[in-house]
Amino acid sequence: MQVVHTDRHRGHDPSVETYLGVPVPACEVPARAEAIRDALAADGRFEIVPPTEHGPDPILAVHDAGLVRFLEEAWPSVERQEIERDFLVADTYPTRQMFSGMSDAFVAARPEPEAIGGRTGWWGLDSSNPIRPGTYEAARWAVDVALTTVNLVLGGETVAYGLCRPPGHHAAAAMAGGYCFFNNAAIAAAAIVRATGERVAILDVDVHHGNGTQQIFWRRDDVRYASLHADPRRLYPFFLGHADEVGEGPGRGANLNLPQPLRADDATYLADLDRALEWIAATPGSIIVVSLGFDTYEKDPIGDLALTTEGYAEMGRRVAALGRRLVILQEGGYHLPSLGDNARAWLRGAGGTIPEP
Ligand SMILES: [Zn+2]
Repeated sequence: MQVVHTDRHRGHDPSVETYLGVPVPACEVPARAEAIRDALAADGRFEIVPPTEHGPDPILAVHDAGLVRFLEEAWPSVERQEIERDFLVADTYPTRQMFSGMSDAFVAARPEPEAIGGRTGWWGLDSSNPIRPGTYEAARWAVDVALTTVNLVLGGETVAYGLCRPPGHHAAAAMAGGYCFFNNAAIAAAAIVRATGERVAILDVDVHHGNGTQQIFWRRDDVRYASLHADPRRLYPFFLGHADEVGEGPGRGANLNLPQPLRADDATYLADLDRALEWIAATPGSIIVVSLGFDTYEKDPIGDLALTTEGYAEMGRRVAALGRRLVILQEGGYHLPSLGDNARAWLRGAGGTIPEP
């Protein structure tokens, strides 16, 4: 199996994030991608290949140009204003209650702030998303990793894996958040639709609901989105991810959320995975984009499910057994000592080989 990877992710190198307002060591760090790369590079069944550049157009097909502009300008603004900070996060976000009673048109006409703190809130969801000097470049390369993985599959590979970092599924059309800046999976799915004219399914198995992916395709029926995740009443992103979110307009019925109970184990999770796969199989299409997270792992520091390495091998096998081509893209997973083994198990499962004990 080909694994698309580049060291360019290292430019996004936060050391701290905030948890309930208190600085804590960052979870989404370069060592995550290095652990997975090292494990796959040491396994003869995987071949590491570099991404190719795809330019901004595939990003602009999914994201608001203002978000792209903000992310490009954010760190230069910090430097220009000589703000003494290691990273940029906002304190103030425009929540929906601020605009209560005002019309959609009125709210949409509110101008983007000029101050960098205001802009960061304007384009952001939360403060757990520090922007560093190399964040924009790293996020652009993560998109190129995703699109290169798409190219491999469109070029004839049955399955390919993009080791995206930073991850993407919390990023909405006009919003970064949750360690995500550009939505790699959404950009990949939209590119596949453009290239093939086929419908595409996104299967999201990160522990967190992919609120960004759901928002981007909420009113579209050409990209169907199925997600298994911790119940948002317990876990980030808190405000979306409930079972009654099915899409609207042409997208009605094209969104499937399967919230999981606390400490859901392999058997519980795999039963719902089968439901998601049946749902995907009921619609035409030959390619699935997988948003692959390992924060469902039993020892993950920020997840609250209880999957095992053996569970990941079985998950990979069941997804591959659907017989569709797979564009597998990395999202979360924060238990560093297990990331390599878990990725190897999942991808070997998907590649049709039984992991060694
Ligand atoms: Zn996650």
